[in-house]
This record gives sequence, C-alpha cells and structure tokens, in this order.
Amino acid sequence: MRVLICGGGVIGASVAYFLGCRGVEAVVIERLAPAAAASGKSGGFLALDWCDGTPLAPLARRSFALHADLVQRIAGDWGYRRLTTYGGVSGRRQRNRHRGNGYAIDWLSPEVTVNHRLGSPDTTAQVHPQRFTEAMMRAAQAQGAHLRLGNVTGLLRRNGGTQVTGVEIDGDAIDGDAVVIAMGPWSILCAQWVPLPGVYGLKGHSLVFETGTSVPAEALFLEYVEGNGAVQTPELFPRTDGTTYVCAISSEAPLPINPSEVVPDPGALERLEGICREMSPVLASAKIVARQACYRPITQGGLPLIGRIPGVEGGFAATGHSVWGILNAPATGEAIADLIIDGAARSVDLRRFDPGRLPPLDPARLRITEG
Ligand SMILES: Cc1cc2nc3c(=O)[nH]c(=O)nc-3n(C[C@H](O)[C@H](O)[C@H](O)COP(=O)(O)OP(=O)(O)OC[C@H]3O[C@@H](n4cnc5c(N)ncnc54)[C@H](O)[C@@H]3O)c2cc1C
Repeated sequence: MRVLICGGGVIGASVAYFLGCRGVEAVVIERLAPAAAASGKSGGFLALDWCDGTPLAPLARRSFALHADLVQRIAGDWGYRRLTTYGGVSGRRQRNRHRGNGYAIDWLSPEVTVNHRLGSPDTTAQVHPQRFTEAMMRAAQAQGAHLRLGNVTGLLRRNGGTQVTGVEIDGDAIDGDAVVIAMGPWSILCAQWVPLPGVYGLKGHSLVFETGTSVPAEALFLEYVEGNGAVQTPELFPRTDGTTYVCAISSEAPLPINPSEVVPDPGALERLEGICREMSPVLASAKIVARQACYRPITQGGLPLIGRIPGVEGGFAATGHSVWGILNAPATGEAIADLIIDGAARSVDLRRFDPGRLPPLDPARLRITEG
C-alpha cells in the first residue's frame, strides 16, 4: 500500500511516521521544504490539559503523552523539555493595578506582573517545532517514506470523481492507494478537486532572540496593551538552544498561494520588537536571529478536519489544527494511519473532527492567483 501525503509540515511528517510504524509506504509531497511554513515558525508549546472541556481534549492528552514517548523512540534532539508556565500583564493595562511580580521572573522588566501559574512541568512542555518536524520526517524516511519536493497541482480521480487514485505534482501524475491532504492553510486549494470544507489562514508574527541558556525553562503568556490601545497577547518561550521565541500580533492578511511568499505585515515586527524591549531587559539587549510570519490553519468552528473526505474513496484530510498543530500532530498522525490501515482510529474518537460535519467549500468561491 502506498499513501501520498500532500504537505510536509508537522502534520504530514507525523502521518508519514505513523504509517511507517505500521509498515506502510508514504510519499510526502512538499512544495518548499519540511517545516517551511507554520510548523517551522510556531511556538512549539505543548499542554496536557488546556483543551480539557473541549472536543480536542482526548486528542491533546494522547498527543502530549506521545510527545514524551517520541523522545525515547526517535533519534535526534528537538529541544523537548517540560516547563513551568505563567500568565501575567504588562504595559499600560496594569498602570492602575498592583505592581510587582506575584512570581519573581527576574528576566522580565518590573513593568510586568506575573500573577498566575498556568502550568507545571507535569502539564506543560515544549519542542523546537522545526527540529521536531524534521526529526519526524527523518524517522519516517528511515522507515521507508519518501520526500518528494514539488507543487501539488491536482488530485487524480476515477469513477466520476468518487475515488482518488493519485496526485498531480507540477503536472506529473503519481499513483497511490490513498491521499492525505495536510497542506495546512493551503489545504483550501484541494477544495478545487474534492469536496473539502474551507481551511483558512490566520497570520501570526514572531521574533527569535539569542538570549543564552541563563533564561530558565519558564513559558509566559502575557497581556500587553499598546500605546494605541490594541491588546496583544505575547507568548514567550525560552528554548533549550539558547534562544527565546516570542509571538504576537495576528492579522487577516490574505494567504499567498506560494508559501515562499509569506512575509510579515508592514510594521508588525517593529511593533513586536518594541513590546519585547519593554517587557524584558534581556530581550532588549539580545540579538534577533529570526524575524518571521506564518499562518495558522483554521476552520469554521475551530476544530481540525481529521478523517475521510466525504464521498471520495481513498481521500483523507488532516488539517486545520489552528493554534495546536504542534501539540496535536502525533495523535493526528497515529489516528490517520490507523484509519487508513484498519478503517478506524483506535486511540482517539475522530467523530468530532469528521470533515463531513461541515459543508464543502464551493470551488467557485476560490480566487487563486499565483504571483
Ligand atoms: C505564530 C504561531 C505560533 C504557534 N504556536 C504554536 C504552539 O506553541 N503550539 C502548537 O501546538 N501550535 C502552534 N501553532 C500552530 C501550528 O504551528 C500549526 O497548527 C501547525 O504548524 C500546522 O501544521 P500543518 O502541517 O498542518 O501546516 P503547515 O506547517 O502550514 O504545513 C503545510 C505545508 O504544505 C506545504 N504546501 C503548501 N502548498 C503546497 C502545494 N501546493 N504542494 C505541496 N506542498 C504545499 C507548505 O510548504 C507547508 O510546508 C502556532 C502557529 C502560529 C502561526
């Protein structure tokens, strides 16, 4: 059996890895490089119980456990570690409030009040998302998967479109027994060829600072009010490689068809840099080693699409993971592999993520113009 996976982000790599664990050949088709989009530019924060009370809880809990397990199973260092996680406020919002840290975080400025503990090393963790995605891809390749660089330009169909038999890559046909759509926000392109609900992109901006290893393993979720009154929610993640990742400032800027054309909005990174300088003297004096933007893949209702594409034999979706794609990748990969091989996922009930729960996007609504 050969499974074609469209997209080499964290979801595509995880599906390939778990298919390989079951002895099934996977071909990952990626336009740029593994982890070229959000999977290489995200925070990499993981939480056991932050999805509790939502339909995502079983997926997140299973995935949190798999992340710990994968460290034992796969070669490589992707900066996995457990963390303590705090919440607080910074900037003008707290001017009239009590100042000073409820928790002493000495790498933050005195203007920041850290007043909640949101997670402990039992419940929160992190990975370096690019390294994690690359390690999953390498592990998949070690089990026989292939990485094919190329642009998915169509899906091959038979029987009046009710069966998917392959993928068109830059106009060339490649056959497979099943096809998994895992192109993050670019999955929307596949609505041209199969009945897939809309997947949209929500842009986020981030900076990576070279802070050294003295910054402790503390993740921070802060609220910051800018001079213009805009409320930002910066997330700060010191990493094992001596860098600190900070993201904030979302925008609804349209998704370019070519992932290589994703660029920050004008002025967004300068604003983020200003916020970082104010929040922390350590960040203010640190060299910035990455300035970037990427798109979260989101769906109507906010839940991912994980399962069979309705009415299309051999067609599967694994996309739309929004803010939790790095967390939920392993359990998604495991569940999709079981679904393809056994006809049902064993570890997670996928019914709430069924692509058939939403109406398919009308292809006439797609405006595709490649620059
Ligand atoms: C600022 C920010 C911070 C985040 N922080 C976290 C976090 O802390 N924790 C967490 O769990 N999640 C986080 N996320 C979410 C997470 O990054 C995403 O949910 C996840 O990366 C999505 O992975 P994916 O594989 O579905 O998509 P992507 O990473 O977008 O991968 C899709 C791949 O498809 C490829 N592609 C596109 N078009 C084509 C084509 N035509 N042919 C072939 N290939 C194509 C792209 O090049 C890309 O590599 C964050 C997201 C953002 C934006």
